[in-house]
Amino acid sequence: MTASEARMQPADEDREEPREPAGGADAGSDAGPDSGADPKAAPRSRKDEDPDSVLEHAHTPVPSLDELRAAMAWAFEGEEIAAHLLDRFAEHARVVLDGNRRMNLTAIVEPREVAAKHYLDSWRTTRLLPLVGRALLDMGTGAGFPGMPVALSEPQVRVVLLDSTRKRIDFVNECIAALKVPNASAVAERAEDHLARNKYDIVLVRAVSSVRENVRLLRKVRHSHKDLVMLKGPSWSREARAAEREAERLGFRLDTVWEHKLPGELGDRAFLVYRAPGGHGN
Ligand code: SAM
Repeated sequence: MTASEARMQPADEDREEPREPAGGADAGSDAGPDSGADPKAAPRSRKDEDPDSVLEHAHTPVPSLDELRAAMAWAFEGEEIAAHLLDRFAEHARVVLDGNRRMNLTAIVEPREVAAKHYLDSWRTTRLLPLVGRALLDMGTGAGFPGMPVALSEPQVRVVLLDSTRKRIDFVNECIAALKVPNASAVAERAEDHLARNKYDIVLVRAVSSVRENVRLLRKVRHSHKDLVMLKGPSWSREARAAEREAERLGFRLDTVWEHKLPGELGDRAFLVYRAPGGHGN
């Protein structure tokens, strides 16, 4: 990716290619990129009441560390990244895939897909955003994406991984302890409640809701952060258009769109950087 790619115009050739989320009640389902679990929604089935009532990967073998490390090398080929960071990603992936046997954390279990869809996608945000010395909230982190790869990549950023589901946050805390990540912490709370009392430089969000729903969710706490960064799939431009009026009304301004591709034709992705009202000197 080049610097010129950092400001691209919306493309019209959006392809419907769902981003598989990790974590949350819908992990393991075929839900699209923007289907987050809404804990306030009425339960519709046993799986809605307890997302782990049916374990999707109870018997899926956990790849070895070597396999995961090789997958990281494949996904990050051509990227400027330190070898020890790929070791850390592989270690973390192993903890996640092991945990996936006792709770539904991620539908993505094939090592190369894990490496590209969870780690490369998350890590690339660190190429786009100035992070040193900043406070970042990963809203709706699920199993810890994108927050954990970001915290592992940049020790000088303070990362809070937040999810409304206590069980996911207990798991994220296990990961933080197992990997010893001093700049990361995890909070079980709804984003709109947490942001009413806490301020951040950046709110990062992947696979929680549509652009429009995300800005609506944050409307009452829009002064709590400077940048709202959404990690999206190929239908980002349609979503951004659908959110345009609402975002403008609430003072969110789309500043940068960075499109990128995952290797092995694993899909197109985009980062949308909205300047939030909290960054306008209000
Ligand atoms: N961000 C992760 C990823 O990309 O793999 C997980 C996405 S998962 C589909 C969506 C998560 O958002 C769920 O774990 C859900 O509990 C959480 N969530 C949904 N609405 C939320 C809210 N208002 N506050 C905090 N977490 C929320």
